[in-house]
Amino acid sequence: MNKVESSSLKQKLPPRLARLEELAYNLWWAWHRASRDLFKQLDRTLWTTTRHNPVRILQEIPQENLDALAKDPIFLRDFDAVMMEMDKDMHGSTQWYSKNPIAYMSAEFGLHISLPIYSGGLGVLSGDHMKEASDMGLPFVAVGFLYEQGYFRQRLDHSGWQEAIYPPLNTQEAAMRPAMNGNGEKQLVPVRVGDRDIYLQVWEVLVGRARLYLMDADVEKNAPWDRQLTARLYGGDREMRIQQEIILGIGGVQILRRMGINPVVWHINEGHSAFMVLERAREFMAQGMSFEEACARVRAGTIFTTHTPVPAGHDTFDFNLVDKYFHHFWPQLNLNRDEFLSLGSHKMNNEEAFNMTKLALTMAGRSNAVSALHGEVSRKMWHSLWPEKPVDEVPIGHVTNGVHLASWTGEAMHNLYRRYLSPDWLARQDNPLLWACVEEIPDERLWDAHVFLKRKMFATMRERAREARIQQATPPDQLLSSGIFLDPDALVIGFARRFATYKRANLIFRDLERLKALVHDRYRPVQIVFAGKAHPADDPGKLLLQQIYNIARNPEFGGRIAFVEDYDMHVSRYLIQGVDVWLNTPRKPMEASGTSGMKAALNGILNLSILDGWWAEAYNGRNGWAIDPGQDYDDSNLQDDADADALYRVLEEQVVPLYYKRDRDDVPRGWVTMMKEAIRTVGPHFSTRRMVKEYLEDYYIPALHDLTALNGNVTP
Ligand SMILES: *Cc1c(COP(=O)(O)O)cnc(C)c1O
Repeated sequence: MNKVESSSLKQKLPPRLARLEELAYNLWWAWHRASRDLFKQLDRTLWTTTRHNPVRILQEIPQENLDALAKDPIFLRDFDAVMMEMDKDMHGSTQWYSKNPIAYMSAEFGLHISLPIYSGGLGVLSGDHMKEASDMGLPFVAVGFLYEQGYFRQRLDHSGWQEAIYPPLNTQEAAMRPAMNGNGEKQLVPVRVGDRDIYLQVWEVLVGRARLYLMDADVEKNAPWDRQLTARLYGGDREMRIQQEIILGIGGVQILRRMGINPVVWHINEGHSAFMVLERAREFMAQGMSFEEACARVRAGTIFTTHTPVPAGHDTFDFNLVDKYFHHFWPQLNLNRDEFLSLGSHKMNNEEAFNMTKLALTMAGRSNAVSALHGEVSRKMWHSLWPEKPVDEVPIGHVTNGVHLASWTGEAMHNLYRRYLSPDWLARQDNPLLWACVEEIPDERLWDAHVFLKRKMFATMRERAREARIQQATPPDQLLSSGIFLDPDALVIGFARRFATYKRANLIFRDLERLKALVHDRYRPVQIVFAGKAHPADDPGKLLLQQIYNIARNPEFGGRIAFVEDYDMHVSRYLIQGVDVWLNTPRKPMEASGTSGMKAALNGILNLSILDGWWAEAYNGRNGWAIDPGQDYDDSNLQDDADADALYRVLEEQVVPLYYKRDRDDVPRGWVTMMKEAIRTVGPHFSTRRMVKEYLEDYYIPALHDLTALNGNVTP
């Protein structure tokens, strides 16, 4: 294999194919099928062995193959078509009213498996938001971390205990490059963290028209222990965390300035990046404003999105840590210690600490939760910050999350939508009238497309089991849980997400005998596929995972319950396209939104879910099922019993009978009717197109107006 570094790709690529480099280095390919097919055409084996990484494919493909493709008329035709499509997308119209962009800061971004800098729904949402901003032509710059040891790879040991493996991310082999300023110089930006400077290298990732800057402390100029500061996602102790958040919030503003980028509206995606408001206030004060004037400007230009109703999910820091890292900072804001601490001090569970959500809520002019129900819960949760207002006037709105349709629609479904909705259905995706046309898809066609995607999922599971067997001589019981014994013609329920305990992955095991009756029904068996990772420090989550894994490989279940290891965006994609039912059993109201069920519905997979988060909004009685015990309990044990009972009842009385009710063509007509209703109701509404439009119209543009009113112009 002749491995070549990115700098020498220029010499390697034949002139006719020179633009392949541009294509590989823009994640635009991640959501444009024709461009991914092009890289597949380059080298099918490499496509698989590199885990779909175009940069590595170009580096590793033999020179003579490239030279041959440069003369292959069929390849050249496809190549030119892709480049034309990309050029069209990169230069389309925009919908923004300032010469300055929107900045979006987040601790994680889920864009593609080749860039493992996410750990779950929050990251995937940030990634989807960016892709949509690009599609809509919003000038959008995002800031995050380059985690050298990002999203870990999961392996289960013989007892089902999760092991975390951290293959280091090789920056030479990912679609990223050192960011240059206007003069073409690499950046090494010093950021004050406590009593020292941390130097940050900055990487640029192109996401269509949007840009993502990733900060990386792993440079020689930093002390060895400081080089670890950006190595892992949510790793380390509180002190590590406050330093990371200083880098994200304060460093994030500084690196953008260094690059000559001056955002007008700033979006804080979850509290991790909230320190940015302090840095921006400091900047205004350095121009001569008072603290109050500076805050007014910061507020006008800041949007904050809160993502969790779980109290422990909100970042807090002890005051002694804040003292240590900010004692040099508060004089610059003309504040004394008490005044500074009061910006974040908040009492939760009887402990007073510096709360990042409070800082963000009080310093952002506009804040939102991520579903209607989460909005209600958040207004209650933060009422104490606005004690003079009635609860429903607490200034936290909601923008329900969505998913990026081009990224999550299976190809077989995409082809149907092209044919029966419109050839340019993606461009018109937020028009509900367009989606009414799903009625016109013949039942057999929709069912066939679903069965095709289901078989693809089975093929992928078999392939993974085969590889695992070759690599590590899988013991027989592990084979039992690998999914190879599942029956492709029988009902499959999917459950895949982070193994946070509130998500209750084990709810369906609450009454094992009742579950066994469902699984072993002779004519109408039920099967389940699980996937998910627990946070490496979350032992209760890992125990939950172990429990499920041990049930899956228990011969009593005969291989009808599978656990797919190493959940990531790739595994997620084939599960949300390939199972029949998507199960979601959070402890209400802990699931702020949830997005995997949206991805499923978009592919005609039926949701079976607690009425929490997005499903409380989407469920209409005909587009899936609610797990609704009809009553809330104070005792979580009683609640679990009631929820589990409701779950079994829906399965026994509705889901299973409907799935197995076939006509002579073996098409479950009633089921297909429900699939259509799911697609019709979820497609236009639970998309990032609708979501980003709401952010634009109700948050970003009003922020611009406020700034104009304050300044007379909008330059920051
Ligand atoms: C969509 C997605 C999620 C979100 O899952 P929810 O539990 O529904 O919020 C998490 N992880 C990955 C890899 C995903 O693709």
